[in-house]
Amino acid sequence: MARSYVVRTFGCQMNEHDSERIAGLLEADGLVPVDDEAAADVVVLNTCCIRENADNKLYGSLGWLKQWKEAGADRQIVVSGCLAQKDRDLVAHKAPWVDVVLGTHNVHRAAELVQHARTHGQVTEIFDAAVIDDHALFPSALPAKRDTAYNAWVTIQIGCDNHCAFCIVPAVRGTELSRPFDEVVAEVHALAADGVTEVTLLGQNVNSYGRDLQLAARQGGDAQARLRPLFADLLGAVSAVPGIRRVRFTSPHPKDMRPETFAAMAASSSVCEHLHYPLQSGSDRVLAAMHRGYTAQRYLARLGEARAAVDDLAVSTDIIVGFPGETDDDFARTLEVAAAAEYDYAYTFIFSPREGTEAAAMTDRFIEPAVAAERFQRLRVVVERSALAKHLARVGRVEEVVVEGPSKKDPSVQSGRTRQNKLVHFPAEHPLRVGSYALVEVTSAAPHHLMGRFVELVAEPTHRRRIPVLAG
Ligand code: SF4
Repeated sequence: MARSYVVRTFGCQMNEHDSERIAGLLEADGLVPVDDEAAADVVVLNTCCIRENADNKLYGSLGWLKQWKEAGADRQIVVSGCLAQKDRDLVAHKAPWVDVVLGTHNVHRAAELVQHARTHGQVTEIFDAAVIDDHALFPSALPAKRDTAYNAWVTIQIGCDNHCAFCIVPAVRGTELSRPFDEVVAEVHALAADGVTEVTLLGQNVNSYGRDLQLAARQGGDAQARLRPLFADLLGAVSAVPGIRRVRFTSPHPKDMRPETFAAMAASSSVCEHLHYPLQSGSDRVLAAMHRGYTAQRYLARLGEARAAVDDLAVSTDIIVGFPGETDDDFARTLEVAAAAEYDYAYTFIFSPREGTEAAAMTDRFIEPAVAAERFQRLRVVVERSALAKHLARVGRVEEVVVEGPSKKDPSVQSGRTRQNKLVHFPAEHPLRVGSYALVEVTSAAPHHLMGRFVELVAEPTHRRRIPVLAG
């Protein structure tokens, strides 16, 4: 009988994408997926060290998985992801019943190591980026088990060359490496041939894509190095792939945002009108302490350029409240910038230290939890005000949505996602095929979603400038 597996993912899109690859590799090795641990022979915990209490969550899960493992012969536990990369031998030391500890740079070894551990016992294998070959570096080059057939993540870059004081990513994911241009485009062609219509280009700092390739070419004596493609070129090439109806990307860094990117977004009807544009703080003093590389004024100026270039652009952001040393005045600047930016939505976080980061050592400037919590609530009010205003402005419009299936909260209605990445719930007489495209008239709005009325299915992409506005 085939062995079975389940993957639990704690983390960002990059982690989820790695999980797809681990699942793909295990299935290529003959394992079958199951929904829960009780039915599994192999449990993979794909960890994240960006999220709060990541260590507690991991070791808490490993605590009860010890009993799970003891209850069945040939059961195996795999710990992968950022926390495995960061903690290395510590995972096996703290939880000696773990079978495989796998880093972020050797996802491609998942199936082999699971097999190896069955006969040889526990194995910890953490690669540093520099020692592996190009194809192993990029998880997109591996087989994948995607949850949905119509959309896919495509890794275009791994690692990060920035040093944001609060972030552990550069320490665990290494320096920035861009995936070769042709390889990215070829993968998107293959995905389109496989029925994928929406791709999300993934990287820690996507708009610096290609800089390392340019530099390497220059160092190699290539006189044409400066002509090597950058992110805007990649966006253009990917969006031109036949069959691809929607292109998204995440995350760009405001300091590296270029007019060419906005021009590429505007020029291609398949690039969605959504920009995730992380602010982090509206105070120049805090931004400098975070090493973000831009001021609030420059941030807003670039945002203005983006909105001028791309019609009907939705903008989301990340904001940290209570960064060490943040004063009332600093926080007031954040409220001002958030109000001026008029976000469609925001991921807001109360600062919590990540071990190993510069900010974690600023203990003498930590903000009282009650103060941070109160600021967090005030920021939420500002963000929800603009989110609701943006949503109300869409009432009466007909939007193209890609159908995601029945709503999680109310299965009697369907959910779909607009090009602006807005969730729309709408009743439909019959369940619609997941991944189909439909027109929906927006009938009401809330800060986090829209409600609508199903109009019709669409076979061809609706060009954004031709979506009608219904009267009334
Ligand atoms: S840009 Fe800053 S926040 Fe983003 S991954 Fe790099 S260091 Fe972390």
